[in-house]
Formats: sequence, C-alpha cells, structure tokens
Amino acid sequence: MKQGKGIPAFAGIAVGKVCLLQRNRPIDTTGSGDPQQEQESFARACKEADAQLEQLAEHARKDLGEEQVMILEVQQMMLQDQDFLDNVTVKIRKGASAAQAALDAGKECSAEFAALDDEYMKARAADIQDIARRLAAILSNQDAISLPEPAIVLAEDLGPSETIQLPRENILALVTKQGSTNSHTAILARTLNIPSLVQTEIELSPELAGRQMAVDGFTGTYTLDPDEQTIKALNACRNAQSQKVRELEAWRGKPSVTQSGKTVRIYANIGNVEDAKAAMCGDAEGIGLLRSEFLYLGREDYPNEQELYTAYRSVVDTMQGKPVIVRTIDIGADKRADYLGLKEEENPALGERGIRFCLGREDVFCTGLRAIYRAAAGGPVSIMFPMIASAWEVEKARSICESVEAELTAQGIAHGKPEIGVMIETPAAAICSEQLAQMVDFFSVGTNDLTQYLLAADRQNAAVMPYCDPHHPAVLNMLAYIAESAHKAGIWAGICGELAADPQLTERFLKMGFDELSVAPGEVLALRKRVCESEV
Ligand code: PEP
Ligand code: MG
Repeated sequence: MKQGKGIPAFAGIAVGKVCLLQRNRPIDTTGSGDPQQEQESFARACKEADAQLEQLAEHARKDLGEEQVMILEVQQMMLQDQDFLDNVTVKIRKGASAAQAALDAGKECSAEFAALDDEYMKARAADIQDIARRLAAILSNQDAISLPEPAIVLAEDLGPSETIQLPRENILALVTKQGSTNSHTAILARTLNIPSLVQTEIELSPELAGRQMAVDGFTGTYTLDPDEQTIKALNACRNAQSQKVRELEAWRGKPSVTQSGKTVRIYANIGNVEDAKAAMCGDAEGIGLLRSEFLYLGREDYPNEQELYTAYRSVVDTMQGKPVIVRTIDIGADKRADYLGLKEEENPALGERGIRFCLGREDVFCTGLRAIYRAAAGGPVSIMFPMIASAWEVEKARSICESVEAELTAQGIAHGKPEIGVMIETPAAAICSEQLAQMVDFFSVGTNDLTQYLLAADRQNAAVMPYCDPHHPAVLNMLAYIAESAHKAGIWAGICGELAADPQLTERFLKMGFDELSVAPGEVLALRKRVCESEV
C-alpha cells in the first residue's frame, strides 16, 4: 500500500483499477523480429481499434451528433480497407514491426487520399493517419484515449478535448500529476460529479496500469493497492456523503429565497446535452452558462449549423421552458482542436481566444449564431459573449447578431430573439462595466478568468496556484463594483465562474446583490440550502 497527496478538484470517493493515459510517450516500434508474430499482433490490434472506435461512436451518438459518429464509422470501415491491410502485410513480410508497418502504410495511404480531387476523400487523409496512429499505439501498449471499463484515469495532465472523449460512465476518478483546480478539465469533472485530484505526488510509470487505487477527493489523498481497512474507511466516508446528498433533497423544488425575502436564481453550467439532463436532475432553475466550445472539441472538423442547432435545441427542450444562456464559442487558450488551425501563441490566454477568435472568423461565428437563434424558437435563450474587453467588441458582435437575425427572417427560417449579455472576465470589462451595462441585457461574471487576469496568475499553472486566489480583495471588490454597475443601469448580474459555488462567499454575493449564481449541476441543491438559510 502506498499513499500520496494531491489537491482535490472535486470531492468524492472512488476505488478501482488504474487506466494510465500516457499519450505523449514515443511509440515503440521495435517489434519481435518475427513476421508471423507481428502479423498476428496486427490482426489483434485491428480488432482492438475497432472496439475502441465502436465505443467512441456510441459515446458520440449520445452526446455529439451524427457527423461525428460518421467520422468514427468511416474510420472503422478504413480498418477493413484491403489496400491498407495489404500494404501493412507487405511491409511486415519485409521485416518491419507491425507498429512501424502500420505507421508507414498509414502515411502512404494518407498521401494518396490527400492527392485526390474530391474534397470529401481528401479530408479522409487525416482519418487514415489517425487510424494508423491508433493501431501503432495499441501495438506498443500505449493507452489510447479510450476507457473500455470503469477505471481511475491517471495522467500527467488532461486537456478538455481529451477529457470529453472519455466515456463518462467509465470514469471513476481523474488523477493528474499536473493541472489546477480552475482548469477546464477540473470544471468538467465537477460538472460530471467525478472525484478528481490534481497536482498529485505520484510518479507515472507503465507498471501503474491496472493496479488498484483508492481516491479520496475530500482529503486529496490517493492510495495505491489499498488494504481492506483503507477501503472500509473510504466506504464509510462515501456512505456519510451519500447521506448528506440525500438530506439536500429537502431543498428540491423550493424557491431560492433568503430569510429576509431576497430571491436569487440558481442556474447550472453545462457543456452539452447530457449535462443539461444532469442540470434538470440537479434541480437547476436554468442554464447560466452553456460552454458552446465543448461542441467543437474532441472532433476532426467543424460542427455544421444543423448539428449545432440539434445540440442547442436539445438543451432547450431538455430544460422545458427554463432559461438557457448560451455562450458563443470561447475557443483558444487551453481549448483547442487541430482543425481550428489556431496559431501557436506565446501567451495563448492573452491571445486570440473567445470573442477575438469569433470576430476574426465571422463564418464560424455566424454558423454558431444561426444555430442559437434557431434554437431560441423553442424556448427562452440568451446569448453571451466571452472575453469582452472593449465596447467596440460588443457593438461589432451585436451587429453580427442583427445581420444573422435579419438573414434568418429573410429566409423564412423560424428563430427566436435572444437577449444579449456579456461575460465580465477581463479587468477592462470590469472597470468599464458602467459603460458596458448600457449596451447589453445582462452580465455574467467569469471569476475563473477574472481572477487570473486581475492577479496576473495563470489559472492553468500549478506553480502559481497560491497566487491565483479568488478570495483576493481585488477580485471581491471588483465583483461588488460589477453588480453595482449592472444595477445602476437596470440590468441583472450573475456569476458563472467556479466561485459562485464557494460556500464561504454565498452570503457575500447575496449582500453584493447578485441576481443569479450558476454552478455545476451537482452543486445546485447545496447552494439553495445556503441561500434559504441566509439572513441577507
Ligand atoms: C470563467 O472564466 O469564469 C468562466 C466561467 O469561463 P471559463 O471557465 O470557461 O473560461
Ligand atoms: Mg472564462
């Protein structure tokens, strides 16, 4: 038994086998030197790759949309492509290892696809490379991003696009050596109620794969090969926690009103349709932040308007008339995908992210906006722009919204008329909040970014975590000022950053006059209890 510490990113207990994700290890292409053995290994790898793709497709069917499913199905078909298979066989016969043969054949087939005139076939070049990499990774015993059975995921670090590719039903816990509690991966873990530790002391090595691990997301402790006594103690803790969760049920369906009669709306933060169901189960009064960019991550190409519309409309329908605030894509910084063609930037958090990306890529922005406007025909939808720093950005974004609306009207396509708000998450937006309040219908404060930009402390960087303190007076004073600016202009203000769920600050936010707090679906009832018990 071996114990170690980390920082809890989401509380909870998990016991299970370790699934080690070490994707950046170089692929070992040595092989056995025996062509027949290599050919057999290759056949087994093809079967395993097919099973992985099937699992990803199943996940995509639930959460992502038809186009993504099709990409995976096409990849499955490519696994049976005779030219590719023959090419691998020839290379193995000539003495290459199965992994090397797969990589080389993948490169050659991919070049052939890329040279074709048909745009669709051209685009398949990336798929064949992907398949080849998957096969080589399986052959060199590297875990691909797949989780065939429930396990504790252990990794150096996990990006949001990697996390969303994992089948959530099989993630018992997330344990990373790096990471921070405000990273998007930690936020995802909270949304999904997955116990999670970051910055653990663990030394990653291949021999950890498959070993038993216990994770205590309350104390931030992990135990490798836990003994019976440890498991018993953790189970007792889990039972006590379940009891607390059951007690919170008393607050389900109750209005969120303080002892002195102040009402605050308690909404949920989500990233996709499945999370909307969790928000309803958690008794959220609406969606305070739909992180649209998650619809763009973990895929090979842009979602089209219809896919986006289907996703937004499903969220709207799931929420059954409760308000849904859709944030336009906040891509960039740690939220990346190859097809987006984001430039390498020295300081991506200060780079072309959020509204800056959208204003530079109007085609992408408009496709998303059309889908949102159309979904708004089905229920109360608002639009919110991320990373606003200047009034001209709001003017420009609003004018693009107006053109999109006019275009839909001219085309006779059903749509709604969403209210428009901005996230206040840059110091500039906070300082200019009186001016911005004149231009929009509401504010929602992104305390995760506001904290990092105010304190000049990267929210992703474990080394500066003590400096990225959201309780810093600069952050709290700024929050009070933002609420005041909103109310002076007669608009409402909410908080959708992680701080909204901080139990130490609920009273303070109520005193500041915030009208809405948006938290992870699983945190709604606990927050309502604190609101209802408050004297404010
Ligand atoms: C924030 O910055 O607080 C926020 C809610 O947005 P994100 O965490 O997605 O950057
Ligand atoms: Mg933000």
